Amino acid sequence: TGTVIGLDIGGTKTHGVRFEDGVAVANETAGSSNVQNVTREEAASHLADLFARIGGGNVEQVYAGAGGIDTDGDAAALAGLIAPHVPGARITVVHDSRLLLAAGGASTGVAVIGGTGSAAWGKNDGGAEARAGGWGYLLGDEGSGYWLGREAVRHSLRRMNQGFEPDELTDALLAACGLDHPNKLIAHFHSTGTGRRFWAQQARLVVEAAAAGHAVSGALVDQAGRDLASLAGQTLRQLGIDGPVVLGGGLGMHVPRVQASFRAALAAAGISDVRVLEQDPVFGVLQLVAEQD
Ligand code: BGC
Repeated sequence: TGTVIGLDIGGTKTHGVRFEDGVAVANETAGSSNVQNVTREEAASHLADLFARIGGGNVEQVYAGAGGIDTDGDAAALAGLIAPHVPGARITVVHDSRLLLAAGGASTGVAVIGGTGSAAWGKNDGGAEARAGGWGYLLGDEGSGYWLGREAVRHSLRRMNQGFEPDELTDALLAACGLDHPNKLIAHFHSTGTGRRFWAQQARLVVEAAAAGHAVSGALVDQAGRDLASLAGQTLRQLGIDGPVVLGGGLGMHVPRVQASFRAALAAAGISDVRVLEQDPVFGVLQLVAEQD
């Protein structure tokens, strides 16, 4: 099969793997090149950084799954940024959620990303495809890392409004931001020094506070799992199937409480074939290339 480069482009990073005859020979990450969230220039520079390390040249095919790809025009624009690094290669750009189903070893079903952002995508054995969510952080992305980070800020501000002292979650948030009062969170949230990626990373604080017994944090983590399950349910309904469902993304792969709440919500809807992704989505590229004509 020659040389194939697989790219997984999420809201926080670009993950690239170079496969030679199906074997991964280079595996690197660079900053995000998701053109929904970073400028064209930033995307181009992160891709240049990645290709400098992974090697361009002599590549038959680049297969990229990227967040923020909603139209053929979006896909063509990203392909145009990749092309200069791989002269002569075939370039395929699809939505990042497509990589997960393949990486989970399923050819039909629904995959859900609970990462920096959130989205679900699936297909049935009649060849129909469907999506839910993936609206981006300004419109949606419920159940994502960004959503959880922002909810931590909103929780802290609500308590301040009610005249309460900071609780464990607010203390952790203030420490992580280097701030001494919740009233400073408002400007910090809107400052150019923070952004989608920064707030998504603060989701970790909510997960940790939940594990330490902080009830509001626990409720937020559970809500994230239910919101991701709802994206899965909407996609399954469109396709007229009841599984399998593959859960991925940083929150989806690494937070047991999100997984538990996700499974419970789906079980309540009669959906029981739920799998947590075990390998990075970029490894789904080999199956997708093999399925291609
Ligand atoms: C983007 C989607 C993407 C999802 C997961 C969202 O913010 O809008 O296109 O699939 O994040 O990466």
